[in-house]
Amino acid sequence: MNPTEIFPWQRSIWPRIRQPDSVQRHHALLLRGRRGIGKLGFAFALAQSLLCAQTDTAGVACEKCQDCYWFEQGLHPNFRLLEPEALSAQEGVADKGGEENREDAGGAKSGKKLSQQISVAQIRALDDFIYLSAHQARYKVVLIHPAEAMNTAAANALLKKLEEPPPEVLFILVTHNAALIPATILSRCQQIAMPAPGYEAAKDWLVSQGIADADFRLAMSGFSPLQALQYDEQLAASHADFIQSLCAPEKFDPIELAEKLHKLDLPGVTGWLQKWCYDLLSCRAGGQVRYHLRQAAAVRQQAAVIDPVAFGFLWRSLVTSQQLARHPLNAKLFLEEMFLNYMDLICPANSAHL
Ligand SMILES: [Zn+2]
Repeated sequence: MNPTEIFPWQRSIWPRIRQPDSVQRHHALLLRGRRGIGKLGFAFALAQSLLCAQTDTAGVACEKCQDCYWFEQGLHPNFRLLEPEALSAQEGVADKGGEENREDAGGAKSGKKLSQQISVAQIRALDDFIYLSAHQARYKVVLIHPAEAMNTAAANALLKKLEEPPPEVLFILVTHNAALIPATILSRCQQIAMPAPGYEAAKDWLVSQGIADADFRLAMSGFSPLQALQYDEQLAASHADFIQSLCAPEKFDPIELAEKLHKLDLPGVTGWLQKWCYDLLSCRAGGQVRYHLRQAAAVRQQAAVIDPVAFGFLWRSLVTSQQLARHPLNAKLFLEEMFLNYMDLICPANSAHL
């Protein structure tokens, strides 16, 4: 099933992209923006609208015709989805918006290590699809998600296709981080900055989905509405435990925490510490608590005694850690080191005893 959805905060951008001449003028669109704002759902909606036999006046797919039925079942002959093996394996799990389930996939649950990259073989396998005639001589759409997962060989192979674009084929690239995509590819795409919802719009949408504690979930998921929607209860419990440890620096135990958390999604855990450090630095600079609203008193208390320069360095090192977290050599050691670095700053007396 393809998780098609045009979210409320995307409605203003739809007419601009869906205009027939906008699609015809470009052979490749790049939808860029931060995680969890529904880029993938929008990309699916756009693909479906190009394949639908009877769109409405706004160009939105009818969801009734044979083409829509095929598309929604993931079976349309004029559509190809390219994503890393690790994400495809989760396809059956993909839910509304799809983006978050797909992002967190890694094959870890099945115990088998699946590729996180889009390979050159996947790009080459498109040849027959894009160069042979289309089913019913209509549009063909290739959706690549996330585009930054293409390795160098794959990106080069795609570039050749973008340099000599076949007629009536639209490539839709979706990316959370356009900086990781080669400039040669970016220059051949029409780049669309995907709108993110403001706080109230995200909250309204979550409430409309039946979420009661929308404020809390939004704060805990970095204000990404899709991540907030799929906020996992069990993960939430681990996160709450972790925050509790952060609130009591005298009991903060890096080794024990690494043992508890190393089987979770490491970029996610790194993000937890990043958000906490963000709040400490923000308060220290006289700003607001952004993420830990329920622990605001503890954040302010600790912020008053931190060394802002040293924390600035830690903050930068966490940005690097976030990138390394996807491929750590040893998950437990990775977390131990990160937590020890944090403890050095927050509670130097404790770390001296270790
Ligand atoms: Zn239709």
